Amino acid sequence: MRHATASGEASCGSAARALGLDAEAMELVARIDEMGPAWARRAARYDAAASFPFENYEDLRRAGFLKLCVPKRHGGLGAGYRLYALLSQRIGCWCATTANTFNMHVANSLWTADLVDELDLTPKERKGHEARRVLHYGRMVAGKLYAQPFSEASSAAAGISPFGTTATRVEGGFLLKGRKIFASLSGAADYYGVLCTEAKPQARASRRDTMFVAVPADAKGVSIVGDWDPLGMRGTVSRTLLLDDVHVPDAAQLMPRGIYIQAATRWPHMFMTLTGTYLGLMQAAYEFTIRYLRGEVDGMPVKRRMYPTKQIAVAEMLVKLETAWAIWLRAVAEAKLDPSEEERARALACQYTVMENCNEVCRLAIRTCGGQSMLRSLPLERHYRDSRCGSLMLPWTAEICMDRLGRGALYRKGETDE
Ligand SMILES: Cc1cc2nc3c(=O)[nH]c(=O)nc-3n(C[C@H](O)[C@H](O)[C@H](O)COP(=O)(O)OP(=O)(O)OC[C@H]3O[C@@H](n4cnc5c(N)ncnc54)[C@H](O)[C@@H]3O)c2cc1C
Repeated sequence: MRHATASGEASCGSAARALGLDAEAMELVARIDEMGPAWARRAARYDAAASFPFENYEDLRRAGFLKLCVPKRHGGLGAGYRLYALLSQRIGCWCATTANTFNMHVANSLWTADLVDELDLTPKERKGHEARRVLHYGRMVAGKLYAQPFSEASSAAAGISPFGTTATRVEGGFLLKGRKIFASLSGAADYYGVLCTEAKPQARASRRDTMFVAVPADAKGVSIVGDWDPLGMRGTVSRTLLLDDVHVPDAAQLMPRGIYIQAATRWPHMFMTLTGTYLGLMQAAYEFTIRYLRGEVDGMPVKRRMYPTKQIAVAEMLVKLETAWAIWLRAVAEAKLDPSEEERARALACQYTVMENCNEVCRLAIRTCGGQSMLRSLPLERHYRDSRCGSLMLPWTAEICMDRLGRGALYRKGETDE
């Protein structure tokens, strides 16, 4: 009986305690919950039109959330990894598209604040980074929106090869050239945080020369091409971004040159931040199912909870949801510099579990609620389509997670079968 009334709000409270978050953090959760119902009401419209949820971002901007992970000393709200993770879960509960895109914005501050401070940098790099992030954080505090297109139609975003997008050194800055696919927030962002490879004359492209650079949306040579009519997460508007000899000044760098690879290697949980979105979405699908079967959804007053098959399906969904919560809380709490091999593996297992369970819970939700729940007038069919996207997100797709987990478990460092 307890579970029939279990709500995402209650899970969020216990998660906050598990992550050691304070009352200030819960105030931010409460602010999301104030804005959330309007996002949930608008979601179908943005999904149908495959258009960006500008109204939701106006809400976030007004509430100061565009500076969420900007450190307090730079005028931001100072949310760290754990708090962001929890808030993203809560946003995902109300609107998965908003959470997914918000993650791209937030990564530009989360990846460049404490995370970079913990890495090995020379004093000169540290000084330069501090000066440049004053500029970027100032923009976020002023309400500017950043995107994070790093995917290319190659193995670069999977971390296998260098990014094909290049940055060539020129007087006072860099010239960027390349093509980014799935640039969420395309047309909505003020800046695109692009991962690219510094082109060095007479040297082969190397992942060690990866740069992270903010490109203004209105810079000469920036264009957005291609249509956008996908299966799910339609409001992310993730079209193709073309960079045709775009000049950016030195100050555009979001990380010191060459530091990205150190971050990616030593702070692997930076790639796990989208799990909050899909944990929230899973929670939403579960809660909808409970209300539907109890006859509490508007226009659907028929109770269906008395059938044993429904009860079993709901129990299955709850087990998947709780499994995801459990590994997620543990992995989020373990996010840090130089995690152990076991913690690295758990982060991959967490990504896999959350993304796959999300889709499974949504699948079970449709099957058990039945035909009427599939209608577009209800949110479940959208949740189902959105849920399919989580496992596709590079660099930690479901397949890559499994591949790395299996190999990592069977081979010690440097071991081969030769
Ligand atoms: C809604 C949505 C929003 C997105 N937003 C962004 C964004 O804002 N920024 C961004 O950078 N990207 C974004 N992406 C892109 C996403 O992160 C992936 O880059 C994209 O889905 C990859 O598509 P692909 O067909 O090129 O995959 P491919 O790289 O061709 O991979 C196809 C599949 O092969 C498998 N695979 C690939 N490489 C390996 C490997 N080395 N080992 C084992 N298996 C492998 C994976 O399972 C993968 O799913 C978004 C994607 C979606 C669906």
